[in-house]
Amino acid sequence: MDQTFTLNIPDIGKPRVAVIGGGFGGLNAVKALKGKGFQVVLFDKHNYHTFQPLLYQVATAELPAESIASPLRHQFQHYENFHFRLQRVVGIDPARQILLTETGSLRYDYCIIAGGAKPNFFGNKEVAENALPMKSVPEALNFRSRLMQSLELASITVDPAERKAIMSIALVGGGPTGVETAGALAELKRNVLPKDYPTLDMQEMKIYLIEGLPRLLPSMSEKAGARALKDLQKMGVLVNTSAMVQTYDGRTLRFKDGSTIEVRTVVWTAGVTGESFPGLPGDWSEKGRILIDDHCRLLRAKNIFAIGDIALMKTDKYPKGHPGLAQVAIQMGKYVGKHLKELYKGEEVAPFKYFDKGSLATIGRGKAVADLPGKHYFGGRPAWWIWLFIHINYLVSFRNKVLVFASWVYNYFTFDKGNRLIIRPYVRKNDLFRVGDGRKEGIGFLPGVEAGVLDNDGDVGNEDA
Ligand SMILES: Cc1cc2nc3c(=O)[nH]c(=O)nc-3n(C[C@H](O)[C@H](O)[C@H](O)COP(=O)(O)OP(=O)(O)OC[C@H]3O[C@@H](n4cnc5c(N)ncnc54)[C@H](O)[C@@H]3O)c2cc1C
Repeated sequence: MDQTFTLNIPDIGKPRVAVIGGGFGGLNAVKALKGKGFQVVLFDKHNYHTFQPLLYQVATAELPAESIASPLRHQFQHYENFHFRLQRVVGIDPARQILLTETGSLRYDYCIIAGGAKPNFFGNKEVAENALPMKSVPEALNFRSRLMQSLELASITVDPAERKAIMSIALVGGGPTGVETAGALAELKRNVLPKDYPTLDMQEMKIYLIEGLPRLLPSMSEKAGARALKDLQKMGVLVNTSAMVQTYDGRTLRFKDGSTIEVRTVVWTAGVTGESFPGLPGDWSEKGRILIDDHCRLLRAKNIFAIGDIALMKTDKYPKGHPGLAQVAIQMGKYVGKHLKELYKGEEVAPFKYFDKGSLATIGRGKAVADLPGKHYFGGRPAWWIWLFIHINYLVSFRNKVLVFASWVYNYFTFDKGNRLIIRPYVRKNDLFRVGDGRKEGIGFLPGVEAGVLDNDGDVGNEDA
């Protein structure tokens, strides 16, 4: 047998299920498939599961990266007929029932696509090159490095205008990620940075939160959006709503109304689109998401399922598809894993039904907003406690729960955020800084930075944190 072709997966005479992605959807699908008589092969381009809702806390030095990521092999140590392959899936051939990876391929009987979403720059190449995305652990670490490097750079920069631009940060996208990151940065600026950088005037550090729609948290209730705005403004965040970004060249953020902001760090949280898997015909997807029926099966290939952020199931209640939430992916993963055997045998299975458990966003210490099912809104400290409890509860391993809990207790009592290391310096292609007395211009302002310019994709290159 050609081992390269099969990626060294033995043929054991059981139907083979290939699962692409060990995120919330894939992880739960594999768990639900346990003991159902299939051979299961899980593919992921990372060897760990990422708890994305806490990525912003890694980015803002509140949590260590390993507290929100868990090795996938550890999750499935005792599973029979299970294989993990650290491989990027680069294509699917539905006619031949084959998955293609960068080093080989594998025949499947069933395929579950759970590849999640990627940042959507809406075709703006300049923004894609110069703004930082925050969808993965490497990307969150890039932002953390960038933040700390900027402050080091600011402390040796004499020109006040240049220093202000270096210290400032703009977050584009006023959804939960933008709101949570802005709040965390405001707390870092107030409680930690003045002690670390006593010679810097922290009033020069501006935190901008930019949203194209007229209000924050557009996916949540108006009350939640209004509360987030009020709390963030009190914390010193400069919130710009109804502000459409036109472009960003690495130095100047330009808006469609002609206004500009000079800022060296821009984080893009303004939208996502499904990961792409070449090989599936174009009309099997819509706006980057794979069209599925009410059993999570592709409309045109009944042995392929798509779940979570990458899937688009149109129902009467969700005509534009389900929201991009962890709960949707978890519930779809469990549904497909539980019913694959019946579907395989051609038995009748009830359609998937999403159980909405509500949405939460935290703004800062003791500040959060919650929309519960039935349009019940509440905010403040009770919402914050619920937010803390739910996030600990949904972390995938006991070790992660302990690490996150211990870090939060430490941060709560000390007002500190202890993960401010620049382990892997991060620069962008267009970074040009004038430092010192203004005569030195270039990217090599810190030891190690000259080593290499990283590319825009946090998934490749220099990502060993
Ligand atoms: C910063 C941030 C904050 C969020 N906050 C919240 C929140 O507070 N509450 C909430 O409910 N939701 C939140 N979400 C959304 C939630 O995380 C997603 O809805 C959820 O992760 C979707 O699960 P999934 O399984 O579809 O995809 P993911 O969890 O994204 O998993 C996809 C997996 O596929 C892998 N993969 C992708 N492409 C390939 C490939 N070609 N080959 C191999 N592997 C591949 C990836 O490495 C990843 O492990 C947040 C998302 C982000 C980015």
